[in-house]
This record gives sequence, structure tokens and C-alpha cells, in this order.
Amino acid sequence: MPGFSCYEVRSEFPELERGIVYLDNAASTLKPRRVVEAMREFSYRSYANVHRGVHRLSMEASKAYEDAHEVVARLVGGSWDEVVFTRNTTEAMQLAALTLAYNGLLRGGEVLVTAADHHSTLLPWVRAARLGGGRARILPLDGRGVPRWDLLEDYITEDTRAVAVGHVSNVTGAVAPVEDIVKAAKRVGALVVLDSAQGVPHLPVDFRRMGVDMAAFSGHKMLGPTGIGVLWARRDLLEELEPPLGGGGTVSRVRLQGGSVEIEWEEPPWKFEAGTPPIIEAVGLAEAADMLMEIGMEHVARHEDELTSHTMKLLEPLYSEGLIRYVGPDKPGERHGIVSITTHLKSPDELGLLLDRRGIAVRTGLHCAHILHDHVDASMGSVRASFYIYNCKEDAERLAEALEEILTTRR
Ligand code: PMP
Repeated sequence: MPGFSCYEVRSEFPELERGIVYLDNAASTLKPRRVVEAMREFSYRSYANVHRGVHRLSMEASKAYEDAHEVVARLVGGSWDEVVFTRNTTEAMQLAALTLAYNGLLRGGEVLVTAADHHSTLLPWVRAARLGGGRARILPLDGRGVPRWDLLEDYITEDTRAVAVGHVSNVTGAVAPVEDIVKAAKRVGALVVLDSAQGVPHLPVDFRRMGVDMAAFSGHKMLGPTGIGVLWARRDLLEELEPPLGGGGTVSRVRLQGGSVEIEWEEPPWKFEAGTPPIIEAVGLAEAADMLMEIGMEHVARHEDELTSHTMKLLEPLYSEGLIRYVGPDKPGERHGIVSITTHLKSPDELGLLLDRRGIAVRTGLHCAHILHDHVDASMGSVRASFYIYNCKEDAERLAEALEEILTTRR
């Protein structure tokens, strides 16, 4: 497959024509023209509600919606009926956690999470564990804010029912050792649920081959629209488990029998998609997934690794002078696509505003990972630069030059 060029894809992203260096991709990526066009075309030509009609527009819309499951499944490994569309990663994680609680799978046991996890993983699982009659156990962090994966064998015990952890940290960029996690979890029959919000958009993944049981990710972090996320889950789990959310679209038949409501659930994935789903957004997400597959996820991953290394090399003088500190590993090979820093010279928000004045968009604050920031003594937050396919090395250079100017110029 031919290599991919960040310069060639940039024309697909009109926002870049404003000259902004967009480094806020871990929060949300920009949308390419072809995604917006696919949604527009579908909205104007084939839009209707899905699964509820025999008329041609409903049939066309249903076909497009079903096809979107298929395309997304191709990106992450697995079959179309293992793809449940939700609103975002947060909702996908709530759905996964509530499903296990609702089905009694957490009762009397533990869910292992880590102190580095995004609140969208941490809160659903801590709360579902309580609700389901169990408790959460928290894997501690090392001095860099990376989970102590070396303690996995001690923390995963016969009591562990599920391990729900981040795939790639949205703060440190550290990639979880999924193979080791799966091995340790399988030894005790625990389920592995991956928050892949920063995984699927940036790395080649094949959830089945990786051996995970469930995984969550968001459309808006991978060139797609807001309003759609994915819970991928093993088909047999979706088949066996009762959904915590019921409603239109989830059932094949409902009857009143002897004064009680009898429910026959639909086949997966429909039984987990309650109510009218994000139809137009599914079409957009499928177009985004197609674009990523055309580029090749191994190219995306390599490109981001190169940008991370380049950025950290450019920041070396500021780092060695003690003007910046990394949140997370200080070696580029140990973080993927994300460079988060703090400085004693400016608050994160102040630094973010000064970068914005220079046309550089970064994210500042605690990035929904308060415990992690407290742990690394950065309770004011950090400044995070995160890369995607349309960032080129000049973006890293603009960032490094701006940081140097802001942090070394006396006023
Ligand atoms: N998990 C991680 C690792 C994330 O980076 C994010 C988004 N910052 C989320 C979960 C939540 O994603 P969403 O807001 O799309 O639900």
C-alpha cells in the first residue's frame, strides 16, 4: 500500500484553511468534506426512520443504517451484529456497565479500573459495581501517571468480574498492555472492557483477535460526527444478556399475559439500541471509517508516532532546562499521539490562551482525569497537544516555537 501524506489529506478539512494549527484531536477531530457530504446526501435523498416501515425511504434508510454497522465492524474486527450504536463512548461505557450490573454479573465481586482512567470509564464502572452489589478496585499509578500494570496479577483475583480500563490514555498517551490484561482476566474468567476512545481512531485494532469482550469508542474522535458512539461486544454476550434499556426497536414482540408484560427481545445489536438511533450520524461514521481504512490504520499510527517523537525532540531544550514537565512518560516511544505538559511559569489555561493567540489549538485542564492529575502533582491540569492525520511536522514546529517564545521571552 502506498504511504500516506498528511499534506494530501489536508484539503478535505476546510477548517484548516483558516490557518489554525489544530492539536485538540483527542477531544474531537475535524470532519472531512466527504463525511459531511455523505450525511447531507443521505439526509436529502434517503432519510426516514429505520426498521419501522415498508416504504422505500424507510427501506433505504434501514439498509444504509445496517451497512454502517458492517463498515464499523470491518474497522475494529468482528461482525456487524456486534456493533451497537450509542451516543458516544460515555454512553457506551454506561451501557456496558449497566448491562453487567442488570444481569447480576457484578454481584459480590470486583470491577478493576485504574486511577488513570477517564471519568467516562471510571464513573460508570464504579457506580455500576455499587448498583450491582459489588465494588470497584483501583489499580494504582506509577510516578508518571501510568497504571502499575506490573501489579495486574495481584489485583486480578478470583473476585474480579470485569476489568474496565482505558486502551490509550487521553492524558499521557500511554498504551495499555491489552494482551497481558486479557491473559490475567481470562485466568479468572473476568470480562475485559476497553475504553478505546483514543485507541480505535489511532491504532489498528481487532477486538476479537485481541481477546477483549467489550469496547467503546466515539465517532467524533475519528473524523465522524458528534452524536454517535459504539459499544462493540462479543456476539454471544449480546445474545445472552438482557439489555438494561428497553423501548422501541429493542423487541420483536410484547404481549400482555396474565396481567404482566412479556417481552421477546430482538436479535443483537437491535436489542441494545433503544429508541430511534443516530441514523444520519451512522452514515457519517461509516464514511469516516471508510476513509480511515483507505488510509490504513497502520499508516495513521506510524504518522502519529513520528509527530510525537518530532514534538518531543523539539521540546527537548525546554524540558532539559526544567521549563516544562511531561504528564506521562518522557520518552516518545512510550506515548502515542499525545503530548501533555505543565510548566511552573503559567497556568494551563493561561498557556492555552497564549497558544491560541498564535493560532494553535490545544486543550487545557484536567481532561476528565482528575485523579491522574492529582497523582502527578498537576491538580491545576495540563496542556495537551494531540495529533491526527492532517497534522504535519510543521504543526509540531509551530507549537514548539510558540512554547519557546512564551516560556523563554522575558517581558
Ligand atoms: N474515554 C477517553 C479515553 C476519552 O478520551 C474520552 C473523550 N475525551 C472519553 C472516554 C469520552 O468520550 P465522549 O465524550 O465521546 O463520550
